[in-house]
Amino acid sequence: EDVVNKIAAGEIIVAPVHALKELIENAVDAGSTSLEILVKDGGLKLLQITDNGCGIHKDDMKILCERHTTSKLKAFEDLTAIGTYGFRGEALASISHIAHLTVTTKTADSSCAWKAQYAGGKLTAAKPGQSAEPKACAGRPGTQITVEDLFYNVPSRRRAFRSASEEYSKIADQVGRYAVHCTGVAFSCKKHGEAGVGIAVPATASVRDRIRIVHNSSIANELIDVLVTNNQYGFKAEGLVSNANYSGKRTSLLLFINHRSVESTSIKRAIEQTYAPFLPKGGKPFIYLSLEIDPARVDVNVHPTKREVNFLNEDEIIELICDEIRTGLGKVDT
Ligand code: ADP
Ligand code: MG
Repeated sequence: EDVVNKIAAGEIIVAPVHALKELIENAVDAGSTSLEILVKDGGLKLLQITDNGCGIHKDDMKILCERHTTSKLKAFEDLTAIGTYGFRGEALASISHIAHLTVTTKTADSSCAWKAQYAGGKLTAAKPGQSAEPKACAGRPGTQITVEDLFYNVPSRRRAFRSASEEYSKIADQVGRYAVHCTGVAFSCKKHGEAGVGIAVPATASVRDRIRIVHNSSIANELIDVLVTNNQYGFKAEGLVSNANYSGKRTSLLLFINHRSVESTSIKRAIEQTYAPFLPKGGKPFIYLSLEIDPARVDVNVHPTKREVNFLNEDEIIELICDEIRTGLGKVDT
């Protein structure tokens, strides 16, 4: 049973960045306006995320890491939203099977914060002989999730990591994506024990400011707005994309579907083809694109990691977006 859980967890979380992505999404879902992320050894030693969201009720802490525990279904009566938004109640459960997990949380109506440790889906004592029940402690409203020693009990997975800095750059990339997309939310991300801040975005920054902060000014100065709405295919696409003056070494595609960071090879290819006639040979664009699609049209039966997403009328929707980009590129005089 436990082996099955461990294997399932290892399928959802292959690298530290996958655990962190789930934790970022939870913090954003909790209505947070501030996310602070701390990383040690590329996330293998420590991944910590502190938010100022709604917190978790003490009574819910017991079942928090049981598989399929989610508080998010009532808000989305359309059950197809489960797959699309990843509300499957599996992230914390998975993490508790392959790492040491500590949760400290306070709701607005609680007079104190509560702290608990988890292992294998259940509350566990911090030290042998102690109670596993949540302990009262001081704390501000919101939640702090601490993930330590990821894959400590999956040696084969642990051995697969070549370098902490490689894992950290994947983490910084993913944090950067959410930091660009989530307006109204402040983000910070840094390596434990280092003075410099990796990423620091204030809550008030616009998307353009966020791109300027996370990426660089040479990109931010060369962006054009994209907006497509379409009733026939039930979608809205909004974004900022580089113009013909910008030419990068490789394509940067910051893609969100229904506010989840995802990947789509077909969108990437189509966009690269759209830019090709406008850029010097080998030049690549920067794309930030947020697509909102009727959840019923998004394929929920993709791989559990939700990294590649498929949706209905993909070709038509991509064509409409690329048409809009082409029009925008044509307007820029070079
Ligand atoms: P899901 O996000 O699919 O519901 P998770 O395992 O990611 O499943 O989280 C389980 C539940 O724990 C969530 O539904 C939510 O109620 C609660 N939760 C997790 N993280 C936070 C957070 N940062 N703030 C408030 N509640 C949280
Ligand atoms: Mg979640």
